[in-house]
Order: sequence, then structure tokens, then C-alpha cells
Amino acid sequence: MKEQILRHALSFIALVVMSLPVHSTEAPSVGPDEGEMMDEPSDKAEDVKLELTAELEAEAAVDLEILGETIAPGEHRKMLWRSPQSFGGFVSPAPLHVINGERPGPVLCFTAALHGDEINGIEISRRLLHKLEAKALRGTVVILPIVNFEGFLRLDRHIGNRWDLNRFFPGDAKGSYPSRVAHALFHDVIVKCDALVDLHTGSYYGENLPQIRGDLSHSGVAKLARGFGGLSVVHDSGPPGSLRGAATQAGVPAVALEIGVALKINVEQVEQGVDGILTLLRRVGMLGRGLRLLEPKASFFHIEWVRSNTSGILINHADLGDRVTKGQKLAEIIDPILSETEDVLAPLDGKVLGRAENQFVSPGFALFRIGVEKTLEEMEAKAEAEAEQSESDDEPKAVPDPEFEQN
Ligand SMILES: [Zn+2]
Repeated sequence: MKEQILRHALSFIALVVMSLPVHSTEAPSVGPDEGEMMDEPSDKAEDVKLELTAELEAEAAVDLEILGETIAPGEHRKMLWRSPQSFGGFVSPAPLHVINGERPGPVLCFTAALHGDEINGIEISRRLLHKLEAKALRGTVVILPIVNFEGFLRLDRHIGNRWDLNRFFPGDAKGSYPSRVAHALFHDVIVKCDALVDLHTGSYYGENLPQIRGDLSHSGVAKLARGFGGLSVVHDSGPPGSLRGAATQAGVPAVALEIGVALKINVEQVEQGVDGILTLLRRVGMLGRGLRLLEPKASFFHIEWVRSNTSGILINHADLGDRVTKGQKLAEIIDPILSETEDVLAPLDGKVLGRAENQFVSPGFALFRIGVEKTLEEMEAKAEAEAEQSESDDEPKAVPDPEFEQN
């Protein structure tokens, strides 16, 4: 029954996203102050010299050719992206919005709900669409609010026969079903972008503090990650076949924005995500000075995992975002038969960036992601060392654990 209600609620959100008006008056759009011309990139952008800003030097805005259509500067067009086929032969078209600014600039793309049960990104997309207007924008924003529409309708992370689409990029036009869908998305949309933000949530009853994940050994990705301001940034090169990994390899720097938990909307976290994205748009010069920078600097974190050494019911004591000290009790794991309790202690000082929700856990289960704050330079050096190590390594890359570390 509960699932049915949720399913109806999600269908409603989908309809709203798909039927969004081209221009909405529901929420104030952000842009330059009255009468202000955006002749310069933002005044606080000096620490985020994104490669993207080079596009701002162009003389005039240009058309965007996408999905066989031409979107002129100043236009917001709602379109449908169709993968070449779909499970069972039925195609579920996914909504796609293009907001082509009146002034020249980069093409920044957003994808959400690549995993059909990760709905925070859908709501972030909806709020962004209400706030952005072509006349106030430099460059172009492309938003795909629900990539995996068929999974979304089933409240399912996967596509088709339980494939994880985010393991098949850049895809293959003659490959398996998920590989063909990945290939179509990659070539229809992703290669048109100058940078990509892929919106995700924790998976399998794990929740994440809003955070940026990217391969910081790549300078374009590190610069993109810095632009969000106020959000935590972690180095994570992503699982093999991920959209962000394949996009970065193809010359489109990409990060994942992880927000909250699957199947739930957390309004506070959604707002943090929207604020982070608006900060990015301002920092790369796509929005003008009328927008307040919420937090000037991003914080970079190295991740340490805390895993369970026993089986039982997990009861959390530490919340997302808590600063914890070494030896502090993070959680208890209670044996439901013997009623014995084992404490889970913080192995070091840090900030709780992710945690499993209260549930039954087994030995090895990932309970907490503890972030240890570092400078960007330290993170980049570590990421580069790791990248070199993995290149010289004959061992295959470790398969990600099945818990909330996935994206
Ligand atoms: Zn995901």
C-alpha cells in the first residue's frame, strides 16, 4: 500500500517534470542584478579558473544542435530523448530541457535518475529549471531530469533485467541492451557538453551528506569540483563503466553530486544541492553577480571507511555531517537473539559524509564514510599517485562494494 502511494507520488513528480512550462513564474529566476551586464566573470572566480570560462570569450552565442533539432540563443526548449530500444520493445522517452543563453558560454549538462530510484536529483532538476532563464544565462544548460525513466516508473535503480546502467558507459551501439542505451545517451547528449554533473543518491539504505565525487587526478574535474563551494568534495575515480568516468575520458570533465538516500526527497539536502549548482554557475561566469555566493570554498576530504565486524541490528548515534573524534561511539550493533551489544568507534577524527541507515548488518558491511579534511593540493597529489599506481598495477580494479559507496 505504502509502495503504491509512493509510486503514485513519483508518477506525479514525473508528470510535473515532463510538463514543466518553458517559462515559469513560480519561483524567481536568478541572474544579473537589474540593469547589470555580465561583462566579466564573477569577482570571486579567481580560485576557480575553470577551463569552461574560455567559452565566455566567444563573440556571440551559438545555436545548439541536439537530437536533430536546433536550439537558438535565448530559447528554452523541452524535448524527449529516446534510447534506441527499450526493455520489452517499449520505448520510455526521457524529458530533456535545453536552456540556451542569450550570451556565449559553455554547455553545462546535468543528468539525474540514471538510477531510477534516486529521486533527489529529479527534484533538484525541477528547481533548477524554475530558476534558470535563457535571457539571464551565459552559455547553455542541458538537463535530463530522469535518464532511466523505465526504472523510475518501477522505483528501481536498474534498467531492464536488473542491469546497472552506470556500469556500461560509454556503451556500444552493437552491444547488450544496457550498452546500447548507454551508447545512445553518450552520443546523443553527453558529447555535446563541455562539462557534466551527474546527480545521484546513496543506494541500498545508505545516505550521503551532499558531496561532490570526482577523479581529482584530472585537472578539469578538480576545477569543476571546486566550483560548487560549500559542498564536501571527495576523490573518487568512480566504478568502471560509470558515466562520469567515460565522459571525463572523452574530454568532458564530469563529477557526481551525491545527495541523501534513494527513494526519499530530503528538501534541505535538495536545497543544498541547488545552492551548490547555482554557485558553480556563477563561478564559471554563466550567471551574473546578482547571485550571492553561499559558501566561498569547497572542503576536500579523504575517505576512510568504517565497517562492521559483527552481525546484528545497527543503531546509529552519529548523524550525517557530525564532526567526530577518534574513539567516539558512532553506533551500536545489537545481536537480536543474545541481546549483546558491540560499539562501533570512530577510528580517527573526521566528518561523517555517509552512513548506513539503521538496518540489519553483517561483518564487512560499510557503516560510515568518514571524511578527513585535506587541501586540494594534497588531494590532487594523492589522486595522481593512486592513478599512477593503478596504471602500473596488473591487478584488475577492485569491484565496488554493494552498499552505499556505489553511485
Ligand atoms: Zn546512483
